[in-house]
Amino acid sequence: MSLRPLHLLGSPPLRERSSEVATVDEDTRRFIDDLFKTMDAAKGVGLAANQVGVTTRIAVVDADGHRFAMVNPVIVEQEGKDVAEEGCLSIPDLYADVTRSTRVVLEALDRDGCPFRLEAEGLKARVIQHEIDHLDGILFVDRLSPLKRKLLVKRWRKSRKGAGHIQEIAASDTKA
Ligand SMILES: [Zn+2]
Repeated sequence: MSLRPLHLLGSPPLRERSSEVATVDEDTRRFIDDLFKTMDAAKGVGLAANQVGVTTRIAVVDADGHRFAMVNPVIVEQEGKDVAEEGCLSIPDLYADVTRSTRVVLEALDRDGCPFRLEAEGLKARVIQHEIDHLDGILFVDRLSPLKRKLLVKRWRKSRKGAGHIQEIAASDTKA
């Protein structure tokens, strides 16, 4: 397993619609393990493949005590509306309230390529929606009003002072 560098806002893979995974094989499993390791090192609750520059429909989640990989994930049911603060490993130190469905039903393949169906609420449902957005090239700031997005992103860019779009993660990193 190895840590992968994180892609930050401004990096092109974050804006691509990722492609379906045809077969879940040993390479896929190794990649999923890298995603878990990188998410843990970055202290995240979820991580999508394109956040490490790989545009395939794979993401990992660790929320409400449930840790799982989702390959080719699709939300087949959703209901309710809930507002809560979100952040993203690809836009460090930027947080904002985002409206999401309260409850979702997910269908995906697991790490072994077996189909599963999962009903989720609360934080877990929110993380699933956030990660699937990533796979469609959507970032959580896109869910804000245009005015708020513009303001926050402008402030974020300024705070980065022209730093690059790739961030190496150290095993001891404590960034959220
Ligand atoms: Zn994110």
